[in-house]
Amino acid sequence: MKPTADVDGLKTAAHKPPSFWENVEHWFERAAAFTSHPRGLLDQIKVCNAVYHVQFPIRTARGYEVIQGWRVQHSHHRLPCKGGIRFAPEVNEDEVKSLAALMTYKCALVDVPFGGAKGGVQIDRARYTDYEIETITRRYTAELAKKNFIGPAVDVPAPDYGTGAREMTWIADTYAALNPGQIDALGCVTGKPITQGGIRGRTEATGRGLFFGLREALSRADDMKSLGLTPGLEGKRVVVQGLGNVGYHSAKFLQEAGARIVGLVEFDGALHDPKGLDVDAVVAHRKNAGRIGGFGKAAELPREAGLELDCDILVPAALENVITAENAPRIKAKIIAEGANGPTTAAGDEILVKRGVRVLPDVFLNAGGVTVSYFEWLKNLSHVRFGRMGKRFEESAFSRMLQVIESATGQRLSEDERRAIVHGADEVDLVNSGLEDTMIGAYDRIFAAWKAEPKIPDLRTAAFATAINKVATSYLELGVFP
Ligand code: GLU
Repeated sequence: MKPTADVDGLKTAAHKPPSFWENVEHWFERAAAFTSHPRGLLDQIKVCNAVYHVQFPIRTARGYEVIQGWRVQHSHHRLPCKGGIRFAPEVNEDEVKSLAALMTYKCALVDVPFGGAKGGVQIDRARYTDYEIETITRRYTAELAKKNFIGPAVDVPAPDYGTGAREMTWIADTYAALNPGQIDALGCVTGKPITQGGIRGRTEATGRGLFFGLREALSRADDMKSLGLTPGLEGKRVVVQGLGNVGYHSAKFLQEAGARIVGLVEFDGALHDPKGLDVDAVVAHRKNAGRIGGFGKAAELPREAGLELDCDILVPAALENVITAENAPRIKAKIIAEGANGPTTAAGDEILVKRGVRVLPDVFLNAGGVTVSYFEWLKNLSHVRFGRMGKRFEESAFSRMLQVIESATGQRLSEDERRAIVHGADEVDLVNSGLEDTMIGAYDRIFAAWKAEPKIPDLRTAAFATAINKVATSYLELGVFP
């Protein structure tokens, strides 16, 4: 096949679009050009350190079936490796490798001390009963355990597309059964329910992190002016694609902060209402009606048209490859806030950047999930809930301070004011505060890296270059590349 050079050196075969991995590789190389590391080190950072492909049998009501699964550990520069497990019919090795690589850069950007990993099981959940999903999850975990591809010190999975707290419980339980007496066994997976060693705030963490990241980006008045936008979220018109965990929570937090959700896009269609849609009401409607369409007076559109609605911010929050060279010229949003992993192809990205659309890249913007996973892992290793030791102590210190102020000034606060001031930090307060600080700090760093080098074309390149530098430093300090 004759190669054609479309985007900025990204060679694509004439009839074959670049794979997800080729897109990630393209972004890596583009950013690597702004670093000064030797080629061998860059190659070591780029490649996947370990790829495990497993095929195992399960028995269903329809007979025996072979299930395909993968776990890819992209980088061992820090251990454990970390990244979700995806259950979807489209799962394949190229996808799992790409997602694992994105995890490495994501963790590096938000100072989460893990290497990147990802897992995937190629199944269509709708075809299986709950019992069969449990069997598949437990068997997949056992396969990982056999090869030491899971454990609190080596590789720690989490939820991703098609999995949630329930699957994480089965994973933890299977791992614990195979490792009796291991005191830190619960740290083998994150995203667990609270009663099983989970942490408050993890379920909504990716959406909340997206909200903090977007709020931070929108707070820079000069930068927003260059996009023709006023600073702040208040009144911004937002379209969210995907109403799963990430899309739902992103939409909800943005709405609570005063943004107007003018469009919601699902796999079976899109809703449009310039006056704003109530996110919870749409979710309740979809649950009852079994489809997104037919909600009140909102206009109904095909899902492709949903992405192209007139808005200020588009949040793709489902799967990869939804913004491509084909639809990028028609996207009207001024900001793309990537909640999903890899929602924009390299060719689509190139067009957006040339058109002056600001892309807040996935490796930064959806890092809230893994950030709170890190907190959950710390909780599991320390065997104590955050806030347990200090909450009461803080409350009595604040209370004493208030008493002194009140008697010095002769003024008394109302009960509500008193409660707000005296409140000591609980687990969820600490988790959300750590997440907020992490997202703001990471944005500061990538924005500064972008502005420091005028030739860096966009935030994604700045984010990748920042991440590459961090991983490179870690390798150099390990003494691997003297
Ligand atoms: N699956 C999520 C992601 O893509 C979370 C990973 C984790 O918490 O380890 O970032």
